[in-house]
Amino acid sequence: MLATRVIQGQGVHVEGINFFTGFCVEGHTHAIRRQDQKKQKRNNALWVAEQLGIKLHIVDVIEEYKDVVINPKHGYGSNLNPCLDCKGFMVKKAHEWAMEHDFDFIITGEVIGQRPMSQRRDTMPVIARESGAHDRLVRPLSAKLLPQTLPEREGWIDRDALFDFNGRGRRPQIALAKQFELHDYAQPAGGCCFLTDAQYSAKLADLWQARGNREYEFDDIMLLKVGRHLRPSEGYKVIIAREEGENRFLEGYRKQFTHLFATSHAGPLALIDGVTGLEDLRVAARLVARFGKGRDAESVAVEIHAPSAEPKTLEVCPLSDADIPQDWYI
Ligand code: SF4
Repeated sequence: MLATRVIQGQGVHVEGINFFTGFCVEGHTHAIRRQDQKKQKRNNALWVAEQLGIKLHIVDVIEEYKDVVINPKHGYGSNLNPCLDCKGFMVKKAHEWAMEHDFDFIITGEVIGQRPMSQRRDTMPVIARESGAHDRLVRPLSAKLLPQTLPEREGWIDRDALFDFNGRGRRPQIALAKQFELHDYAQPAGGCCFLTDAQYSAKLADLWQARGNREYEFDDIMLLKVGRHLRPSEGYKVIIAREEGENRFLEGYRKQFTHLFATSHAGPLALIDGVTGLEDLRVAARLVARFGKGRDAESVAVEIHAPSAEPKTLEVCPLSDADIPQDWYI
């Protein structure tokens, strides 16, 4: 928002570009979980564009982004977040888009030293170079600490009216926001990408290990955001809804997965991802019984539906917490 306002203030026409990778946290996840219902279900990119009065282009990069997540040449951050490759990829896409649509340069809100991986003095030039944007990439908030860019040299923008923000502190940004009368903005350092989340990354790593390769489909990464994931054996895992909103979300996957739910007691819907024999189904049914209202009952009836097979019902004794090894929880 600040970078846009600074550049708009120099009389430049600015439009926004937002990439949808599939790992975005906001909107979607808040809409699924009941406990998150009080959180605002806005798409922040759209909201920001509205505040700034600019056009926003939302670009789906789910397929192309896979290579960034699977093979990051600069490696991962503290979890499976490939921030440096990700920034390079997004700036590259933005640059291509800008050139195709007759724009002259790109701006980002990056600040030197603000992030440990992608916003260091030594990595910011890497993004400019590897993205192919080179000196058409302007970081208005730290521009005075970086080499001159093409728009500055050409006089399209005035370098003297740009900034020299540096470091993790955000006081100057907050002061500038006040000056621009921007009072509502995303929380500093608020996670907006699931790849920075340790639990989510553990689930993604488990998925790759179980499949024996590092591929994923869009549905895979969506399902990693939802439910309890337990892996009783290498060949399958059970995804159990934690509440009503997740139950409804998992219902959308009933045709693709073997799914099960208790019929004698109220309880969650669960999906099985992987290949199971009868004994595995029994374990899965006992797990489902454990997380439902029949957890203390002697016997719970669990109905199992496999794609293209007749449903069957198992009468099972719910697993107790002591029966569930901790390493089943992913
Ligand atoms: S946090 Fe996620 S979206 Fe942001 S740079 Fe890192 S990998 Fe990319």
